[in-house]
Amino acid sequence: MTLYTDNLSGTALQAELDDIRRRLGLAALDEALRFPQYFQIETVRVCNARCPFCAVAQWDKTVPVMPDPLFERIAAELAEHADWVRVVMVQRAGEPLMDKKIVARVKRLKDAGIRRVTMSTNAALLTEAKAVALLEAGLDEIMFSIDSIEREEYEKLRVRLSFDTVMANIRRFFALRNRLRPDFLIRVRGVCFLDPASSHDRPRISRWLHAWDDQRLPHDRIYFKRPHNWGNQHAFDGVPPYEEVFHPCVLPWSTLHVTTMGLVPLCPQDFDARMSLGDVNRDSIAAVWRGEGFARVRRLHREGKRGEISFCRGCRLFDEDAHLEKKLDALADESGSDAPLPAGARVGSDLSLPPPASGGGPGWGDRNEAT
Ligand code: SF4
Repeated sequence: MTLYTDNLSGTALQAELDDIRRRLGLAALDEALRFPQYFQIETVRVCNARCPFCAVAQWDKTVPVMPDPLFERIAAELAEHADWVRVVMVQRAGEPLMDKKIVARVKRLKDAGIRRVTMSTNAALLTEAKAVALLEAGLDEIMFSIDSIEREEYEKLRVRLSFDTVMANIRRFFALRNRLRPDFLIRVRGVCFLDPASSHDRPRISRWLHAWDDQRLPHDRIYFKRPHNWGNQHAFDGVPPYEEVFHPCVLPWSTLHVTTMGLVPLCPQDFDARMSLGDVNRDSIAAVWRGEGFARVRRLHREGKRGEISFCRGCRLFDEDAHLEKKLDALADESGSDAPLPAGARVGSDLSLPPPASGGGPGWGDRNEAT
């Protein structure tokens, strides 16, 4: 995609929409209205950390855990569309391992026929028993959020968490996975406050990337992503300023989010569903997805007017080229580079899906940065 900082022509907009269609593996973009292909289900909205770059202090925590009847209602509708749904992530705002029922909920989704059930976690509560239970329940993929392998730096970024506990839990999970489920995908993802072009920061990035070399398997993904400002809701030093952009975002065509309350927010940026597009306590997921709220969002994005939505103004969270990944690839290619990157290591995008047959993948939930 091209970064447009001036309003787009109809031709350019059409090219961007075609690009979204390609990323979703669809013959026509309107096929996306059939049902969401990607989900983030928030089963819990509390967290054991207080990361300063996260908006956790602002969250509405009046419904800390998703009630069973609501979860079951969602799982039952997902089961009806299991052939269409690509990925369900059991996390949005909140640390999923704080949900005492998380293992049973993963199993329910797998029993419903969901192809890929994933989770993003800070790993602080990932005991051996919990790790084995999740692997046995059928979880397909896990994303560890760890931004530094330097204890002091880590504990400054992941306030309330113990670096030693988190590292031990992640290393034990790698070992269990390698023994029990080698096909299982592990992502290690950090929010990057370092500058890949800086000779001071570059060796630190490289050490982080290499830290998993002894346990990772070839299909694992190790990457950084940029910090963001939660749809213009949470400022933090180190988050680059947003510039005005006009191209449509993939999310309104790819992904549906549900909060513990059953509300359907715009996307991961809208952590409190301030722009609620529906309520799945009352309406079906299909009805919300095809409803007036999503239709209006899609229209604004189609017409190059996404800046009329405060969350979308300048947001590039799901742009394929808005990440550090390519920069690091370029640096890795430079001759004389002082710290070569491991093969397959990436700094950048949060594309959390295996590419569809047609290539690409919509990418997802940077909201997961809460963990
Ligand atoms: S542009 Fe950003 S805020 Fe808008 S829908 Fe996409 S991810 Fe959400």
